[in-house]
Amino acid sequence: MPALARRPPTPVGKLSTTRDNLRKSLLSWYDQNGRTLPWRVRGRAADPYRVWLSEIMLQQTTVAAVGPYFERFLARWPTVAALAAAPRDELLGAWAGLGYYSRARNLHAAAQVLAEQGFPADEAGWRTLPGVGPYTAAAIAAIAFDQPANVVDGNVERVISRLRAVAAPLPGAKAELRALAGELVTAERPGDWAQALMDLGATVCTPKAPKCGGCPWMNACAAFAAGAPETFPRRPTKAERPRRYGAAFRIERNGALWLVRRPDKGLLGGMAALPTTAWRATKWTRAEALAHAPAEGRWKKVGAVEHVFTHFALTLDVYAADAAPGGNGWWDDASALPTVFKKAAMAGRE
Ligand code: SF4
Repeated sequence: MPALARRPPTPVGKLSTTRDNLRKSLLSWYDQNGRTLPWRVRGRAADPYRVWLSEIMLQQTTVAAVGPYFERFLARWPTVAALAAAPRDELLGAWAGLGYYSRARNLHAAAQVLAEQGFPADEAGWRTLPGVGPYTAAAIAAIAFDQPANVVDGNVERVISRLRAVAAPLPGAKAELRALAGELVTAERPGDWAQALMDLGATVCTPKAPKCGGCPWMNACAAFAAGAPETFPRRPTKAERPRRYGAAFRIERNGALWLVRRPDKGLLGGMAALPTTAWRATKWTRAEALAHAPAEGRWKKVGAVEHVFTHFALTLDVYAADAAPGGNGWWDDASALPTVFKKAAMAGRE
């Protein structure tokens, strides 16, 4: 908790007065302190293609990680028509390293619809597209079409839970937090409002050490007034992330790796990969793992890599051999591989 002199919260009058004060202070903070982002414009509605692309990339991913990908995608596919016309494998290759690969497949599928039918002008229309959930649809409607959509993600839940000191823990508190956030939305500057709230959550009302001294809502914030705002939102005790085990097989020829395409369904679906065993809850013995090797050879274990996915942590043993693989696959460098396989491609090297 930052060492700050506590001030009593601003007296709460009628909802509209509170709302108007909160809105005025946050929007004027945003005008001074809002982040400059590659997909953001001020003073006019943003281009729906840029907003959609950025919002899909930002799902579960930080602004810092998204920035270079966003710029590269726009340079390569400046319009939704260009993106729709791109071969899917090229798009998946360009997405490599950004994670959550179903987003890339959905992006390509949605681009076909958007290029054909145009951009929907409302939240409901966006919701029908692959990869666009309630949050993303609301964000696009607010930012690109200036509609008073209630844009609520984890950042907004955290800020609102603190502002109102919501006692109920997540995820049960979601509906309450959504309703409280909705009370602050009006038809005035809805795109800026959504982005102001996101920016407050990302830069000031941060998860571990909120910078309450620089917050436009400090005088109104119930969690700040009560002390220990970082303990909001309340959460039930966390279960430990399960671990899975697998083995990957690395075959190299003239500096290229033998790659295969993962099945469309499932984790990293459709992405280029090293051949692997299944990923299961128990360790693989060497003999068990090698029964799944893509070729006969003198396989040597060269290392093991660790990777954390959303729902489990993976330990992947890496075997290498000079072998002659058969079946569906191709030779290529590691540039189009997802991060876990890039790590496996590097395992055991200096
Ligand atoms: Fe978050 Fe602190 Fe601002 Fe409250 S005063 S909204 S806890 S940054």
